[in-house]
Parts: sequence; C-alpha cells; structure tokens
Amino acid sequence: MTDSPGRDCALCPRLVDFRLEARAKEPGWHNAPVPTLGDASARLLIVGLAPGMRGANRTGRPFTGDWAGDLLFETLGDLGFTSGTYDENGDDDLQLVDTRITNAVRCVPPQNKPTPAEIKTCRTFLDETIAAMPRLKAIVALGRISHDSVTRALGEGPSRLPFAHGREFALPQIGGGVTLFDSYHCSRYNTNTGVLTPKMFHAVFARVRALLDGVSAGGV
Ligand code: URA
Repeated sequence: MTDSPGRDCALCPRLVDFRLEARAKEPGWHNAPVPTLGDASARLLIVGLAPGMRGANRTGRPFTGDWAGDLLFETLGDLGFTSGTYDENGDDDLQLVDTRITNAVRCVPPQNKPTPAEIKTCRTFLDETIAAMPRLKAIVALGRISHDSVTRALGEGPSRLPFAHGREFALPQIGGGVTLFDSYHCSRYNTNTGVLTPKMFHAVFARVRALLDGVSAGGV
C-alpha cells in the first residue's frame, strides 16, 4: 500500500466524477487528490476533513486557499509549527516545522461532505500516512469526522475514544506513545457561529506545543 493516492485514483466513483467536472471547468487547478504536506519525520500530524473546492483542490496543498487555512496557518505560526509566510495561493516560503498536515479524505467532495464509504476507502491512505511517521507523538484531529477516522486508523474506534473539543487521549500502546488531541474543525461555519473561537483553537495547539516541548526531540 501507499500513503498517497495517485492523481487519477479511481477508488471513489462519485469523487472521480466530481474531479472530472472540476478539471473541465478549471483546467488550471490542481483537481486531484491533495498530497500530505510536510516531512514524515515530523512528530505532529494534523488531520483535516477534505480539500475545499477553491482552496486545497485549487492549490494542491492542504488548507491552502481555504477559509479554514487562515486560522490554521496563523495558529501554527504563532506556536512555532511553521516558519516563513503563508499565502493563500501557495506562492510563499511557508515550511512546516516538525509538523505534517493531511486530510481524512484526499479528494474534494461535493458540498464538502464525503460519504461514510469514501471516508472508509480513503482511510487506507491515512493508515499508511500514520504508519510512515516513525517519530509521531501527537495527532490533532480537526472535527468529528476526522477524529472518527483517526481513531479507526489507530485501531481504537470512536466508541472507545469519543470526540469532544479540547479532549486529549494518551495512547501509550501506539508506536512510541501518541496523544490524540481533538478540536472542532476550523471551518468557516464553526468560526462564524462562534462554535470555535481563535482562542479555543490556539489553546489546543498550545497543549500540543507543551507536550512536544516536554518530550526530547530524539523521541522515546
Ligand atoms: N482544507 C483542507 O485541506 N482540509 C479541510 O479539512 C478543510 C479545508
């Protein structure tokens, strides 16, 4: 198996149709599965839901050009998880520091809503992405769908580890010990309605920062 679907991955017929429509309408856009950003040697993995049509699906970089990316990259920059500057078109010198960003579903879904079957199918890539990170210490799941998929990828499942914003699950049995952090997704809807404030989001990543700063960079 691989941790990254090919450009013409055909596993989800509905998403293939949607991709072909997008390619016809906007031939200059990425319009393909959006690859994970950042190095596999990172200790932190952030898992979003799926690329946005005019954001990650356009630029080819997770969260880049999406509303959600503004808050995510600002927060990561504040806490030293990025260097350089972020540009919504990806024309920037942004670098992730000890961090990787991926999505539970790699292709843009209609109405930003992947089906349960698509989430399950794409989890094979999430499984491999996690398995390919030998120094992994922390995962941030953005939203319930991402959380549920991550818990399944970790062999635990959401009934054992139910989602709640701000919750942390210490999982010493995974690799050299991993902590799963939950946050509401930093979507336009959640931030506009006040479900998630920048302060709440920052607090989650501040906890991650504290955990990683308390762990020796050499890992266990
Ligand atoms: N863009 C992404 O890449 N993922 C999300 O979950 C939202 C926007």
